[in-house]
Amino acid sequence: MSPSPPSVHPARAVVDLGAIEHNVRTLRAAAPTAEVMAVVKSDAYGHGLLPVARATLAGGATWLGVAQLAEALELRAGLDAARPPGEPRPRILTWLFAPGAPLALALDADLDLSASAPWAVAEIAAAARATGRRARVHLKVDTGMGRGGARPEAFGELLDAALRARAEGTVDVAGIWSHLACADEPDRPVTAQQTEVFAAALAQAEAAGVRPEVRHLAASSGTLLHPGTHFDLVRPGIAVYGLTPAPQVAGSAELGLRPAMRLEARLTVVKAAPAGTPLSYGHTATTTADTVLGVVPLGYGDGIPRAASNLGPVAVAGRRYHVAGRVCMDQVVLDLGPESAGVRVGDVAVLFGDGSDGAPTADDWAVAVGTINYEIVTRLGARVPRVHVPSATVEDA
Ligand SMILES: *Cc1c(COP(=O)(O)O)cnc(C)c1O
Repeated sequence: MSPSPPSVHPARAVVDLGAIEHNVRTLRAAAPTAEVMAVVKSDAYGHGLLPVARATLAGGATWLGVAQLAEALELRAGLDAARPPGEPRPRILTWLFAPGAPLALALDADLDLSASAPWAVAEIAAAARATGRRARVHLKVDTGMGRGGARPEAFGELLDAALRARAEGTVDVAGIWSHLACADEPDRPVTAQQTEVFAAALAQAEAAGVRPEVRHLAASSGTLLHPGTHFDLVRPGIAVYGLTPAPQVAGSAELGLRPAMRLEARLTVVKAAPAGTPLSYGHTATTTADTVLGVVPLGYGDGIPRAASNLGPVAVAGRRYHVAGRVCMDQVVLDLGPESAGVRVGDVAVLFGDGSDGAPTADDWAVAVGTINYEIVTRLGARVPRVHVPSATVEDA
């Protein structure tokens, strides 16, 4: 690996935008009859909102999805600021807001909004009257996730509210949608049951005279593992970043995905230490031989789970180690072993990457810490700079 350029930051997350594009193309091929909404909530799962959003559009996504209104407003403003003249705006859907949210801002930004209950339709209609803009609403039905959405027995009321708003000219029903709870476990019957409940809700809407532009149900697992859930639009998140949504079913490579993020840091200390040297807070680890210690300048202040103490895998110069002792706020220690004479201060330690060079992956970290790959990348802190590179230049970045 070539040396990093001089930086005030000792660590960085290199995000391969070519991998993001590749992954979106892979998802399009997996769902050839549907359009792709790339889900870029929570700062694109920690990868950096705007560069990632642009890469997904280059890969063929035509919609973008974020959870919160603030994220959607930031996304629209950021994309508009660099949009070449004549290029169409992607549709942006946002689905989480509380009563009293400033929905006029959403309509002024041409955002699609979700509604799970009549109060939400009423607030969207009020914002439409206030702005003079017709709102685009996606009616959400709870087909079995047990989270957002109108329960099937309440979907009729939601449809009625939307029909009233449509009749007064304030709202168009752009979508009907739902979310799958267990699509990463293909052996369970839940996905098929949810798909049936969804189809029934669509039939109910059609009977009431509502024909949405898009019907959508599938996130990454649905897109890759359940073709029957594709409908008009799929909403992959984690797979856009090259991480498997179902590690017990298939790894990233098997699914044709390329992990986009590499988390790396330059060793700030390399020093010899004798056998019996206790390491880090609480002395939960002790060297067993005369050895060399390396200090990696990343800790729980950067989003490295403290639960990775004595567990988190790290590669240096092609060799695998794990965190020795407790994860601190800013640093972790590696016991590089007596044969590590070649390792020098300033050398690069890789916490996770795409796995092609033998370094650990986000999935390895998830297993080590007892969580999911989603959390490993999304929790990465704001202190770590994201360095976005086009595919071909990753190694020279
Ligand atoms: C986060 C989210 C997605 C994307 O899920 P992945 O499992 O990351 O693909 C899709 N739809 C909704 C409603 C979500 O909240």
